[in-house]
Amino acid sequence: MSKLVFLGTSNAVPDVERENTHLVLVGERSTVLIDTGHNPLVRLRQAGVDPLAVSDVFLTHFHPDHASGMPSFLMNNWLLGRRAALDLYGHPVTLRSLNFLMELYSWHNWPDFYPVNFHFLDESHMELALQDGEFRIFSAPVQHMIPAIGLRLEHLPSGMALAYSGDTSPCQAVLDLAHQADVLVHEAGGGGYGHSSAAQAGWSARQAGAHSLRLVHYATQSNIAALVEEAQAEFDGPVAAAVDFEVLEF
Ligand SMILES: [Zn+2]
Repeated sequence: MSKLVFLGTSNAVPDVERENTHLVLVGERSTVLIDTGHNPLVRLRQAGVDPLAVSDVFLTHFHPDHASGMPSFLMNNWLLGRRAALDLYGHPVTLRSLNFLMELYSWHNWPDFYPVNFHFLDESHMELALQDGEFRIFSAPVQHMIPAIGLRLEHLPSGMALAYSGDTSPCQAVLDLAHQADVLVHEAGGGGYGHSSAAQAGWSARQAGAHSLRLVHYATQSNIAALVEEAQAEFDGPVAAAVDFEVLEF
């Protein structure tokens, strides 16, 4: 059964129960990690997903709460004996920053390191980034403090579509990604620049014609009921605040 697992749902400041927002898509052919939190290896194992099965990683942007676990994940895979290539997707700025960071770790001197393929995503338009026969994954640049992307995951056998906002202010790209989606996974980090409030997440869900809304990237001390109510004031469909290790099945 193909599924999406919330490995973390917190904003930039996690706690014992809630890690930084990151997700894993487990398909029949691909296992796709979306952002990394601080320590994706442990989180994946807790979710019952073999870290070596991860075939692709999308990094939405290069802020520590989304990307700082990547160097450890690359190293952990190597130490676990990974031989298969790992495909990385992101905005060119994100991937160049990661490469620069990995150079500081001298990763080119790590013996027998497996191949890592960088896929630089379009900086201005929505594009089809990955298709494996079961899933199609689209990316589009969204509106954050630094270059950032959002995603649309289409499960071809069921016809289900799921969108993930990444970190963003309300913008047209999110509406395009979430157009008629069964679930919009939207950040609710707060209404400041480059982020969205729960009300703005609800607004985007309504504008996009999404069928349901899951809030992520909300503060650990949030009043969940108030957050959901805020989104519901803007959006008629089902709304919930996602929790760590929650599973959405396709
Ligand atoms: Zn960010």
